[in-house]
Amino acid sequence: MSTHFETQAIRNQTERSQFSEHSTPMYITSSFVFDDAEDMRASFAEEKERNLYSRFSNPNTTEFVNKIVAMEKAEAGYAFATGMAAIFSAFGALLSAGDHVVSCRSVFGSTHTLFTKYLPKWNIETSYFKVNEVDKIESLIQSNTRVLYAETPTNPGVDVLDLELLGKIAKKHNLLLVIDNCFATPYLQTPIDFGADIVLHSATKLIDGQGRVLGGVAVGKLALIREIYLFSRNTGPAMSPFNAWVLSKSLETLAVRVEKHCENALKVAQFLESHPKVNLVKYPFLKSHPQYKIAQQQMRLGGNIAAFEIKGGIEAGRKFLNAIKMCSLSANLGDTRTIVTHPASTTHSKLSEKDRLEVGITNGLVRLSVGLEHVEDIINDLKQALENA
Ligand SMILES: *Cc1c(COP(=O)(O)O)cnc(C)c1O
Repeated sequence: MSTHFETQAIRNQTERSQFSEHSTPMYITSSFVFDDAEDMRASFAEEKERNLYSRFSNPNTTEFVNKIVAMEKAEAGYAFATGMAAIFSAFGALLSAGDHVVSCRSVFGSTHTLFTKYLPKWNIETSYFKVNEVDKIESLIQSNTRVLYAETPTNPGVDVLDLELLGKIAKKHNLLLVIDNCFATPYLQTPIDFGADIVLHSATKLIDGQGRVLGGVAVGKLALIREIYLFSRNTGPAMSPFNAWVLSKSLETLAVRVEKHCENALKVAQFLESHPKVNLVKYPFLKSHPQYKIAQQQMRLGGNIAAFEIKGGIEAGRKFLNAIKMCSLSANLGDTRTIVTHPASTTHSKLSEKDRLEVGITNGLVRLSVGLEHVEDIINDLKQALENA
């Protein structure tokens, strides 16, 4: 019926109950009942599509998943307790001992730990390419390579990877293309258009958008999602119905929120670019961004994350953080509240300087998740903090 993004996010709704409610209620129940022995047999044999137990499915999680599936133009999906649960379950379901992964080096910290500490336990090794070395990807592919993995835009460097190129390489070498679409959301880009087989999200970020609940989701090709679903229904990382209820409501406003996030972020990025204490600003829709052209081709708008290099290194970064008055110092992102982080002294402080530089984290790098406060108030806070840095 309705095909537009905004409409799918609102009207893709669970069937009304006998109470004729307008907004979907919470289905806080761990299990569901059967009419008789035959109904129970047929349900367990999967001869009918119905809810059995909330680890498998629940009306609230199904509604949330159906919306994301439509928004990402996928065939099927499954919802998880967190973004990391979605990422781990996708690997757990799709990889076998002895398989090999090729991934961009700039991935979310816990994803990197999965590659370096946990997957090797099952003899699954990962080879990395840097964001500016996509021409080397093909040389990393081995006979046992099964997955090509990337995030775009990347965290925290805000680099952009060419999805069309990744799709072509994956197709040519018969690899599964798995994309973490967390920073862009399906409103800004749909990796399935470029050949992605699986798209992953931390719903904790812009999908919730208000810093309330954790969640994750995997969507993609039916046969692959079926494997991910079976892995998950037996290992148990399911999203809670309460979180699904919250997140399904969040999706109703995703388009308007992300539109405004991007409008604010572009203005903040332009302000930073003109400031004498700032060396370099990375924002996908600034002309100075190294992958500006690719960002224009594959993204509707530039997203809400910007990174900048403050003059004066680690010490200036610390002073800047201490001078911030309104914005939050927090590790989350994609919230209504603008968030400032200084990766070199916080999230990535345990890495050596050499390793940090390898993923683009210079000593003065500041990451901003631009929120929905009035943009003048955001800029004024950053301006006074820069003056005091
Ligand atoms: C936060 C994040 C994750 C992990 O999600 P959680 O919900 O915190 O488990 C994965 N990928 C990216 C890009 C993220 O920003």
